[in-house]
Amino acid sequence: MAEYDCLFVGAGLTNAVIANKMAAEGFKCIVVEKRDHIGGNCATYTESGVTVHRYGAHIFHTSNEKVWEFVNRFADFKPFVNSPIAVYRSNEYHLPFNMNTFCEMWPDVKTPEQARAKIESQRPRIENPKNLEEQALVLVGEDIYRRLIKGYTEKQWGKSCAELPPEIIKRLPLRFTWDNNYFNDKYQGIPVGGYSAMIEEMLKGIPVVLNEDYLKNRWLWDRKADKVFYSGAIDEYYDYKFGALEYRSLKFSRYNFPFARFQPNAVYNFTDGETPYTRRIEHKHFLGEDSRNTIVDWEFPAKYEPGKNEPFYPVADEKNSALYRRYKNITNENTAFVGRLGIFRYMDMDDCVELALETDFGERE
Ligand code: UDP
Repeated sequence: MAEYDCLFVGAGLTNAVIANKMAAEGFKCIVVEKRDHIGGNCATYTESGVTVHRYGAHIFHTSNEKVWEFVNRFADFKPFVNSPIAVYRSNEYHLPFNMNTFCEMWPDVKTPEQARAKIESQRPRIENPKNLEEQALVLVGEDIYRRLIKGYTEKQWGKSCAELPPEIIKRLPLRFTWDNNYFNDKYQGIPVGGYSAMIEEMLKGIPVVLNEDYLKNRWLWDRKADKVFYSGAIDEYYDYKFGALEYRSLKFSRYNFPFARFQPNAVYNFTDGETPYTRRIEHKHFLGEDSRNTIVDWEFPAKYEPGKNEPFYPVADEKNSALYRRYKNITNENTAFVGRLGIFRYMDMDDCVELALETDFGERE
């Protein structure tokens, strides 16, 4: 008999949800985390009275009632509507693509009909877009693609838009109304106290071992539990035996300024190809915090280098997806791979919670 029923490798959102569920069902759980904090890539901390999103802005949004009900058991959510502003060569445009954007882009456009006609006149006739460039051009036409998508996307992913999968751009809404809400979901907000506090609440009563690299001491940990939920990168788990999967990382230049306000909006996207950063965010906007200082991030896309920085975005193109399937098909009865890195999928937080709520122990004795 092992000491624990379930071992959770990684203390991010996905594992916190599964561990909470398993513990509530009576399973004996333990969590190991190689970093010195819980919360995975949605981790937050407080500095100068500001809740800082350690690894970049996280805005929770969902239309799934079960997911919303679940997360609200662990935190109060303060409503927040994300309305980023795109900056292209000193001109500002509202996001996501909506009537505000179209009127800023084309001074002769005043109505939805005119906006549709303008986009229509710039759209190529492509039946099945096979890459992000074709997909974006079909969706929004040449002008928006050139000014608001191409530069940002190529910096973010480190590849040309013609090499990227079309799915990535389908995340963004396109509307012919004056609605600047970046998301289409029914619920949207930020947990008061931050994501780390919410995740801590989910893990209440479950032992968490920080600064522990499971992969280095696997022989020890595997003996301690019947089942492992692994939320790290699947290729690293298998020691890259079929080759390395590709991820993108980010680097944050973070400043704490001794004044109350830096910019009038939470998020600015820099969509040209020359500016080396993609986003500038001012953290206090997310919870509407009132503090003497303010903390601002310049977000630079970066190549992922194992051991040097964190993987954030799986590059789920055909080549990597095929490689991922090879890893996934390895029989491993005692380990479930979970979360963005474990299943190599660009999921939002609500998708992670939804999948985590469906994740089960597997065969029970
Ligand atoms: N995107 C873009 N211009 C923008 C914002 C986003 O072209 O101003 C594209 C880009 O390809 C990006 C994708 O849309 O990778 C998804 O953006 P999202 O804001 O959802 O990215 P995340 O917040 O997950 O980094």
